[in-house]
Amino acid sequence: MSDLPDNPQPPAWPLPDEAVEAALRRAFADGSWGKYHGPNCRELSARLAAMHGCEHIVLTCSGTAAVELALRGLRIGPGDEVILSAYDFEGNFKNVLAVGAKPVLVDVDPVSGQLDTNQLEAARSLHTKAIIASHLHGGVVAMPAVRAFADQHQIAVLEDACQMPGAIVHGRIAGTWGDVGVLSFGGSKLLTAGRGGALVTRDAEIVQRIRVQTQRGNDAYPLSELQAAVLVPQLDRLAERNQLRAENVSRLLGLLSDVTGLRCFVEAAGSGKSRRAQPDDSQPGYFKLGFWFEAASFGCSRDDFACAMRAAGVAFDLGFRALHRTHARGRFRAVNGLPHATRADEAILVLHHPVLLGTDEDLRAIREAINVGELLRDSD
Ligand SMILES: *Cc1c(COP(=O)(O)O)cnc(C)c1O
Repeated sequence: MSDLPDNPQPPAWPLPDEAVEAALRRAFADGSWGKYHGPNCRELSARLAAMHGCEHIVLTCSGTAAVELALRGLRIGPGDEVILSAYDFEGNFKNVLAVGAKPVLVDVDPVSGQLDTNQLEAARSLHTKAIIASHLHGGVVAMPAVRAFADQHQIAVLEDACQMPGAIVHGRIAGTWGDVGVLSFGGSKLLTAGRGGALVTRDAEIVQRIRVQTQRGNDAYPLSELQAAVLVPQLDRLAERNQLRAENVSRLLGLLSDVTGLRCFVEAAGSGKSRRAQPDDSQPGYFKLGFWFEAASFGCSRDDFACAMRAAGVAFDLGFRALHRTHARGRFRAVNGLPHATRADEAILVLHHPVLLGTDEDLRAIREAINVGELLRDSD
């Protein structure tokens, strides 16, 4: 697969934010910028606990570290199996290996692109200890089905909400369906401190096990006071920004409704007016908006389409590589044929989120870029 060239107009992120600037000044004035401990991590933890209705928050240096600690807190180790989607963040697969367990890969739903909960029973074995459920690209995993299955078989659920902090997933805040929920504050994410993450749980024993893992005379996986300082004011505006992104996704899908060959994760199969297919009880977050790309409709490859879009200043990117196609077979167990995850590997495009806080004009520019892309191809 060819590498995409650097985006000539990378989407600006994070956006300038006066409240963040004020928080940085406060952290300078009170010296917390250079301290091990101060008020900022405490405040961030308290705010995240209130927001999620979970008393235990562990702040971490990354979302990836939070996933690792969650697995350790759930006592996953050698001989255990962890079920996850064959189309998922690569770090989740690597974390399962890192704790000595075996990833068991299941297929994705062909419309929503999310872990197909109908595959869970076929994936289960005597060794199954946990399911990782990641909400990806604006879609939500059917968490009521995951939870019911997990409870029936006494399997733990790790809910990866790194891409949608503050989202509502089937009536609950993202991250709270899991025995453990995980957030990321990485540099591209909706809440950003450049790096960072958090783990959310109601289970005191999990937190106690994580303490044992992370305390090495000092905290070995920390978030800093300065990072916490810039995150608190972003929490104040998260709901409002999630709302604006959701409205702009609706507008964008309206603008793209005549484009055959691009079907959004949040749309139902088929087309027409009611293309939105998000469950009524969900309000997803939009970190990167996922689309199924149909090369036949465009007469060009996904790579070429993404390149043309990026040259036109629209931040489309390729989705993840599917895990069963990038890792040696001996490292995982695959359930059934994974046809849709294979298609995901070849056909998913994602649109970076900064434009979703933009204007109508910014959204129209995306539609226009697709016209320009077609012209470029015709002149080849
Ligand atoms: C970004 C991301 C992570 C990990 O976050 P980092 O903070 O970058 O380590 C985990 N899972 C998903 C689905 C992500 O998108």
